[in-house]
Amino acid sequence: MTEKPLDPSTSLKAGLAALRAELDACFGPRARFNEALAAHTTLRLGGPADLWFPARSVAELFEVVGLARQRAVPVFLLGGGANLLIGSAGARGLVIENRARVVRFEGARVIAESGTILPRLAKRCAQQGLSGLEWAVGVPGTIGGAAVNNAGAYGMSMADILIRAEILTPQGERIWQPVEWFEYEYRFSKLKQGDRETRGQGDRGTGGQGDGGTRGYVILQVELALVPASTAEVEATMRKYTARRKATQPPGATIGSMFKNPPGDYAGRLIEAVGLKGYRIGQAQISPVHANFFVNLGSASADDVIELVKTAQEQVLDKFGVLLELEVEIV
Ligand SMILES: Cc1cc2nc3c(=O)[nH]c(=O)nc-3n(C[C@H](O)[C@H](O)[C@H](O)COP(=O)(O)OP(=O)(O)OC[C@H]3O[C@@H](n4cnc5c(N)ncnc54)[C@H](O)[C@@H]3O)c2cc1C
Repeated sequence: MTEKPLDPSTSLKAGLAALRAELDACFGPRARFNEALAAHTTLRLGGPADLWFPARSVAELFEVVGLARQRAVPVFLLGGGANLLIGSAGARGLVIENRARVVRFEGARVIAESGTILPRLAKRCAQQGLSGLEWAVGVPGTIGGAAVNNAGAYGMSMADILIRAEILTPQGERIWQPVEWFEYEYRFSKLKQGDRETRGQGDRGTGGQGDGGTRGYVILQVELALVPASTAEVEATMRKYTARRKATQPPGATIGSMFKNPPGDYAGRLIEAVGLKGYRIGQAQISPVHANFFVNLGSASADDVIELVKTAQEQVLDKFGVLLELEVEIV
């Protein structure tokens, strides 16, 4: 007699139920089934997570990832949701929201847990008389998400200040890796390998249906090297950057730059040049303020935003022969 194949949806459901019971037993009633992810992303859209859990420390991150892996439940690490376009189907498996936020200052070194909110950290560093993170004052999300994406602005990025990071590997080991390990490029690290493999296809391919959007690696904490400076000067630079953002970027629900800038040009300029600035599909709009920012006017669906993305890509390709590559990640 041939054995009946395992129905993956049934085994995932069973794994999720068992995992939920374990999480409740270990941490109290914090985990939630079918949590709407729209409330956890800056674009304010996205369907439900099968199971959602807010981790409050590195120890919890480590333990919860381990429990999920024992149950073969896929894990997706959610930082501030500031670089994610989550579809209306949501995310399968366990979504761990990273709220591990302890920060230590050791001279000009900063050791921050990966759920530390980046703009808040920038302000704390200024108060400590440390320079190097001024660019981050208007970059929402966590330091872990910034390390994955090599976030940056005004000519600086994570690659310039990261010394090393503690990583949880797909095999469950905790290892400190030096900055070189990340193979940083413009808005790219080796944690986004799927990005490189699918480059130019208009889909980043790092979508979280496996164990994590980052190939099963979880950044637990980072160590940054900053430079002693006067608090007044650092704060003045941050005020200048904040004013520049206010003047050039739209308020409201966005995910920052939708596309990477192609070499020698700007995605926003190209989109504007094809006449799409201000263009709307449903409640999703290419911002009339900055054409590389896409805005949810209230009740946009992920499908609306994806249609806008395709429209911009097609028209820019037709007119300029440039294929715009997504900076955000589609889940
Ligand atoms: C108004 C606005 C302005 C912005 N301006 C800028 C800018 O100037 N420069 C810039 O670079 N970006 C900018 N962004 C984009 C965004 O802020 C950055 O990409 C940010 O670093 C995303 O961090 P996050 O914590 O929100 O990551 P998320 O969006 O939550 O996650 C992004 C990816 O990282 C993974 N991830 C997150 N944390 C971890 C972890 N600890 N371990 C492993 N994987 C992890 C996730 O699984 C996912 O694959 C902007 C966004 C907005 C909304």
